[in-house]
Amino acid sequence: MTNNLTKVSNYDLIVVGTGFCGAIIARKLVDAGKRVLMLERREHIAGNMYDEIANHEICVQRYGPHIFHTDDEDVYDFVSGFGEWFDFPVKYPVEVDGKIVPQPFNFQSIEMLFEDKAETIIEHLKKAYPTVDSVTVVELLESEDIVCRELAEALFEKDYRPYTSKQWGIPPEEIDPMVLKRVPIRLGYEDVHFPDKHQMLPVGGFSSLFKKLLEHDGIDVLVGVDALDLFTVDTSEKSIRVKDGITKIVGRDLSGDISEVELDIDLIDIPLVFTGAIDELLEYKYGMLPYRTLDIVYEDDSAGLPAPIVAYPQADGFTRKTDYGKFTQSLAGDVCYGVREQGAEGQEDSRLRGNGRTTVVATEYPLQYDEIARSRGLDPYYPIINDGNQIAYNQYLEDLKGIDNLVLCGRLAEYTYYNMDQAVARALCVVEELLNE
Ligand SMILES: Cc1cc2nc3c(=O)[nH]c(=O)nc-3n(C[C@H](O)[C@H](O)[C@H](O)COP(=O)(O)OP(=O)(O)OC[C@H]3O[C@@H](n4cnc5c(N)ncnc54)[C@H](O)[C@@H]3O)c2cc1C
Repeated sequence: MTNNLTKVSNYDLIVVGTGFCGAIIARKLVDAGKRVLMLERREHIAGNMYDEIANHEICVQRYGPHIFHTDDEDVYDFVSGFGEWFDFPVKYPVEVDGKIVPQPFNFQSIEMLFEDKAETIIEHLKKAYPTVDSVTVVELLESEDIVCRELAEALFEKDYRPYTSKQWGIPPEEIDPMVLKRVPIRLGYEDVHFPDKHQMLPVGGFSSLFKKLLEHDGIDVLVGVDALDLFTVDTSEKSIRVKDGITKIVGRDLSGDISEVELDIDLIDIPLVFTGAIDELLEYKYGMLPYRTLDIVYEDDSAGLPAPIVAYPQADGFTRKTDYGKFTQSLAGDVCYGVREQGAEGQEDSRLRGNGRTTVVATEYPLQYDEIARSRGLDPYYPIINDGNQIAYNQYLEDLKGIDNLVLCGRLAEYTYYNMDQAVARALCVVEELLNE
C-alpha cells in the first residue's frame, strides 16, 4: 500500500467492488492521474470472474463458468491491452434423451435426436427458411409448416421448458414459449455456442488479469472489507456518511498483507462508485430484489464431460455441468489456462488439458436467492426482471437520486444482467462521465 495515501481524504475516488465494473473504473481513473481506494467484501479481487488453482492443478472459476465473448471491438481492444488471451470458441452441448447434441440446436442435433425423420425435417427447414442461417424457436412455433412447428414443440418440451423451469423456479406448465423468442436454431452444422467474433479466456486466468489491472501505484485495494460496515447513505440529507465510531478501514492488500487506511472524514464527498447490490445499500427498505442464484458443487471426476460445459434440461435439480480440465488450450504450446503462472513452462500438455486424468467438474443447482441462500454465503446471480421488480428497483433508484457523488455501476447496482463485455462497456461509459465532471 502506498504509504502517503493512508487517509481516506487523500483519495480522489472510492470504488466498492473489484469485478469488471469496479476494476476498470479504478484503472482508467488512475491512468488519468486520480488516486483510488478500492474496497472489496470478498477475500479476493476479480468479482464473479475469480478463479483459483484447485485439485489436480486445475484452474477453477468459483462463481460459475465465465467465457469472455464479444463483437464490440472497443471492448475487445480494451481488455486485450491487459494481458494475453487465447481463443476459446466454446462448444456447449446439451443432453437430451440421453444423447449429447450441439446447442443451439443445429442440423446435427436434429439428425441425432430425430434419426430417420431428420432428413424430412431438415428439408422442410431449408424450404421454409431458404435465405437465413438461423431461426428462432418462436418463429418456428408460428410457422405455417407443420413439420417446423412440430420440431419446435418437441424441442420446447424436451429442452427449453424443463431447463427454463429449473433455472427460474417456475412450474413447467407456466413457461410461456414467448420467453424463448431469441433462442436460435441453426440452419446448418455450426456448433460453436456463442455467435460472437471474439471468444476467449485470459492466459493464466481471470484473477491474474485483474491483478494486472489493479497493480498500480495510484490504486490501493483492500479486500475483506464490507463497505456497508463503514458507510451509510442518508437519503433525506442526500449524502454518504461514515458510520458512527468508525475511524479506520482494515483489510488485506494485493500482496495479502494486512493494511489500514484512516477514515479521517465524516462525510464522503468524493465520488463513490458502488458496484454492490442496490437493495442492500438501502438496507432492503423496499424488500429484497428477486434474484436466482446457484449452488455450485465441485467434485473430482475421473471421466470428465464430453465438452467444457454441458446443459442437462432433463436432469433432476441441476441445469449445467462444467469440466474445468477442459478450460485449457495451448496458446504457444506451453501456456494454458489451468496452470499456475509460475512453473507453467515445460509441463506436459496432455496433463494440463485434463486428458486421461482426474478433472474437476462443477454442477449447478439453481435456487431462489433469499434469506436462507444469503445466510449460506450464496450471492445474487440472475435478476428476475419483470414489471413488478422493475418498479421496486426504481423505488430504490428514486431514493438515491440527488446523491451526486454516488455512482451506481454493474450488474448488482443496476439490477441488470450484464455479460462481461457489457459490464466493460458500461464501465467505460461511467469513466467518461467521471472524467468529464
Ligand atoms: C453463473 C454465471 C456465469 C456467467 N458467465 C458469463 C460468461 O460466460 N460470459 C460473460 O460474458 N458473462 C458471464 N456472466 C456475467 C458476469 O459475471 C458479469 O458480467 C460480471 O460479473 C459483471 O461485473 P460486475 O463488476 O458488475 O459485478 P461482480 O463481478 O459481481 O463484482 C461486484 C463485486 O462487488 C463486491 N461487493 C458487493 N457488495 C460489496 C460491499 N458492500 N462492499 C465491498 N464489496 C462489495 C462483490 O463482492 C463483487 O466482488 C456470468 C454470470 C453468472 C452469475
